[in-house]
Amino acid sequence: MRYTPFSFKDRYGLRFQRLPLDGGFTCPNRDGTVGEGGCTFCDNRAFHPAYTAGKTISEQVDAGIDFHRRRGRKADGYLAYFQAFSNTYGPMETLRARYEEALAHPQVRGLIIATRPDCVDGEKLDYLAGIRSRGFVVEVEYGIESVYDSTLTRVNRGHSFDCTREAIVETAHRDIPVGGHLIIGLPGETRSMILDSAALLSDLPLTALKLHQLQILKGTAMEKEFREAPDAFLQPGPDEYIDLLVDFLERLRPDIAIGRIVSSVPPTFTDAPWGLLRQEELLKRLELRLEERDTFQGRWYGLPKPSAL
Ligand code: SF4
Repeated sequence: MRYTPFSFKDRYGLRFQRLPLDGGFTCPNRDGTVGEGGCTFCDNRAFHPAYTAGKTISEQVDAGIDFHRRRGRKADGYLAYFQAFSNTYGPMETLRARYEEALAHPQVRGLIIATRPDCVDGEKLDYLAGIRSRGFVVEVEYGIESVYDSTLTRVNRGHSFDCTREAIVETAHRDIPVGGHLIIGLPGETRSMILDSAALLSDLPLTALKLHQLQILKGTAMEKEFREAPDAFLQPGPDEYIDLLVDFLERLRPDIAIGRIVSSVPPTFTDAPWGLLRQEELLKRLELRLEERDTFQGRWYGLPKPSAL
């Protein structure tokens, strides 16, 4: 492979299936603790699987397993994926109750916790490390979104990149695999800023990265901003996006596993037609383009890229 794909099988020797769950957490950037209104691109309803509605966590796990089985997806075990909102935002007792309910399910082999970098502290990370030492898989995914404070302010993110850096380092210090989400194409970011992000992220102890094209969702503050100032947005089409990803991957540390390269939400949430392209199709296009350009992830990692390229 010309890039490092994320694979539970490679990491743990087993084929795990993620079960997205709704742990009932909220977000400090919506309830007024950090901010109000949330990140300007966010509509979290777009990421709630239908099977989670109105169910306890163990019922969601059963429904999620059933969902995958009915689609013929085989797995050696399941990982409870606390995905919606900020899944470490709450007191320790709440976190403990929700995570332990998932871990008590006989087919759940661990947790994947998606959260904001400003919603962890030493106590929470020590608890997660303790779960790992009980033999469960534990991974943490941080919403990085951008490495530029100017962008983070513009999208009303409510934390700085220093905060992200610290959370990632503290998590990795506890030997917990740590991933990040980065949005490609936030307003004000140029192509070269996006490519420089790869070098900055490579300096962090990340084990995985999910890359998402910016999807402008209906009814969000970002949609309004886009209507008013479309020139501030890169908005690459699929081919241009794939070329940008190739350039990005060339600069990225070669061992950082790539989990996703596209975000797709149900059609009711967006008018952007190419956002409906599936991950599998985009990955095929990425592999083809890496071959056509005879290049690979990490080609320019740690090296000054020749100016002619
Ligand atoms: S993207 Fe995450 S942090 Fe931002 S408003 Fe939505 S749930 Fe909160």
